[in-house]
Amino acid sequence: MSEESLQNKRTICFTGLKRKERYTKLLILAVLTALTVMMCLTSCAGGAEEDTGAERIPILAYHKIVPAGTEFESSLLIAEDTFEEQMKYLHDEGYTTLTPDELCEWYDGKEFPEKSVMITFDDGYYGTYYLAYPIIKKYDQAATVFCIGHHIDEKTAEWDSNASEDHYIGADVIEKMREEYPRFRFESHTFDMHRKIDNEHPADIFTYDQMVEDIKKNEEYGFTYLAYPWGDHNETFEKALADNGYKMAFNYRPYYYATRSDNRYAVNRIKISGKMGMKKFKKIVSGKSKDHINPDV
Ligand SMILES: [Zn+2]
Repeated sequence: MSEESLQNKRTICFTGLKRKERYTKLLILAVLTALTVMMCLTSCAGGAEEDTGAERIPILAYHKIVPAGTEFESSLLIAEDTFEEQMKYLHDEGYTTLTPDELCEWYDGKEFPEKSVMITFDDGYYGTYYLAYPIIKKYDQAATVFCIGHHIDEKTAEWDSNASEDHYIGADVIEKMREEYPRFRFESHTFDMHRKIDNEHPADIFTYDQMVEDIKKNEEYGFTYLAYPWGDHNETFEKALADNGYKMAFNYRPYYYATRSDNRYAVNRIKISGKMGMKKFKKIVSGKSKDHINPDV
């Protein structure tokens, strides 16, 4: 073999080796790509079980908390121990409890865990502070109390379990909580529109100007959210709130879950009765209670 042909053979061999090396590299690359795709598919399939964020939020509406063992008929009352059982359940099951500001963020598109709820109390009875607050604090939860402005005295009355008349949370507690535990939040249930005249509801009685006047009387408390008395509202009421810096307002009936398509001045809440039992409560907070899914959204 001539020197030249030997050189050519070497070049061919060398080229062959290089090609082989390139094929090996390509093969490794192909295997790695396949593995990456497989890993991605596995994680995507697993994603079905992952938290996809809250689509419906149960906003729980409570009224009056009474000491354990109290006998009562009204579905607006709930015993302290029943309330604790519900809060413990939310805590142990990993539910996130939202403040109204967080609910606003959710409406704006921020994601919150699938297991998200909001806890609210109407009327501002002093039992909400003396009985419910220690439980809320114990389980590190957020809750919002809608107070009637003209019931807010300077000082909250001392707890009296035998009291026959209603007592309400005072300005001292509102101020103290804003420092001590801001996630126990106080907001408006109007100043003095929580009343009916000749059996007519506030939204049907008051004019826009009267509504604005009422809103201004609560200004000193810095409220920016409101729960309508009996849930009654109309466009005039909604406009009066929006024009005066209120960010959202809460409804009462129908008892549907909150969804992102809601009118923010008519956010739905679900009444929690002290007599409903844990089975029903668990169903409601699961977000899957058919009775509470708005059929129109
Ligand atoms: Zn009320």
